[in-house]
Amino acid sequence: MKSHLLGALLLASAAPALGQTSIATLPPPALVDPKVATLRDHALESDHYAWDIVEGLTTEVGQRLAGTEAEARARDWAVKTLTALGFSNVHVEPFDMPVWTRGAEGAEIVSPFPQKLVVAALGYSGSTGPEGVTGEIVHFDSVDALRAAPDSAVKGKIVFIDHDMMPAQDGSGYGQFGAPRRQGPTIASLKGALAIVIRSIGTDHHRNPHTGVQYFTDGAAPIPAGALTVPDSEQLVRILKRGKPVVMHLTLVSQKTAGGRSGNVVAEIPGRDPNAPVLLVGGHLDSWDQGTGAIDDGAGVAITTAAAKQIMDAGRPLRTIRVVWFGAEEPGGFGGTALAKAHAGDRYAIAGESDFGADRIWRFGTQLMKTDPATYRALEAALAPLGIVKNDKAEADGTDVDETIKAGAPWISLGQDGTRYFDIHHTPDDTLDKIDPVQLRQNVAAWTAALAIMSGGIEPEPKRRPRR
Ligand SMILES: [Zn+2]
Repeated sequence: MKSHLLGALLLASAAPALGQTSIATLPPPALVDPKVATLRDHALESDHYAWDIVEGLTTEVGQRLAGTEAEARARDWAVKTLTALGFSNVHVEPFDMPVWTRGAEGAEIVSPFPQKLVVAALGYSGSTGPEGVTGEIVHFDSVDALRAAPDSAVKGKIVFIDHDMMPAQDGSGYGQFGAPRRQGPTIASLKGALAIVIRSIGTDHHRNPHTGVQYFTDGAAPIPAGALTVPDSEQLVRILKRGKPVVMHLTLVSQKTAGGRSGNVVAEIPGRDPNAPVLLVGGHLDSWDQGTGAIDDGAGVAITTAAAKQIMDAGRPLRTIRVVWFGAEEPGGFGGTALAKAHAGDRYAIAGESDFGADRIWRFGTQLMKTDPATYRALEAALAPLGIVKNDKAEADGTDVDETIKAGAPWISLGQDGTRYFDIHHTPDDTLDKIDPVQLRQNVAAWTAALAIMSGGIEPEPKRRPRR
């Protein structure tokens, strides 16, 4: 702790004008601790834990919609699996949440060119009822265009918002182009719209709609809100360009009930020093309901758990490693909030999560660059042979550990290649076959190296005497 503070002070005085740590003030590059290199390379070549977990979870449980019976079965599966792997203190920390479930859904152009389109309801969508609703389409190419429109242009109509999200390695388009999904339904509702459909927040051209959460805020009454597939959105634009009024029949039956239950599954490798700050890693156990939640986020729980297991196999870390399979991330990070609340008094050495698929890690960033430059250099050196570059401008990200980080935990982010992530994200196509086992092992190797470095040292378990 003291050396962290001292490091921070030295850095602050060395680069006061820059307002942030200059790379020139960091200690020289470190050599990789041979023990860390051995663990990393072993995981890269032969880890099977991650694949076994994500294969088992997606096969034996399948989809795990938050707050439902399926997610409860997933927690049972998690407890059984983590216990069998040898983790300690395996338990569920339950919490309450409202549950939203999907019913029948469909979209149809009634006129001028009758045809069916493919649609999925967004989380917390209002329901059309089984008979559906019929209305004229009013088209906007952005949320801002909808916001600027007079209420009279929208009232009683079905709003359609388009956008042009492109694939990016860092997934940065999701923040900006996610706005139609996050804000569109509320704005449309406040302007008196009958319903809203958006172009899926996705980068593919498959006929798979991308679901995702949205909330009605600012007193907006829930209206039916759905996502059309990208090809269907482009089709709708072509139809609209013909200049005739376009009428759609939309059916989105869904249900929201209070009094639902979810929970975080917590497991630990107890550290040799029970008073040392804890390493917190994990991913989220819940998934959307159309696929089997393989890349989002079976892979994340599998990767972080496998890395912790690699450490466990090598011996006992100085610091406790806590692995959390968070519940109910998709509908709004309920698990992350619950964990931060339940563990408000805990001290953390680091907090990090894996929730961006299963493709290879290509860059990393951590607050330790400023607070513990020696450890930062050690991470940089150990991750470089995996093709991972440092991202000095990284900021904390991730829903599940967000509240814990806001409460003061230092963060680490191992950024995965997101080029194809939003092709599959939140679609029926999120299935096991999308995971490349070689890239999955690279993820495990990176997290194993990071945990080994931050663990404070791993000592072999004393050999048990054979019984006579
Ligand atoms: Zn996720």
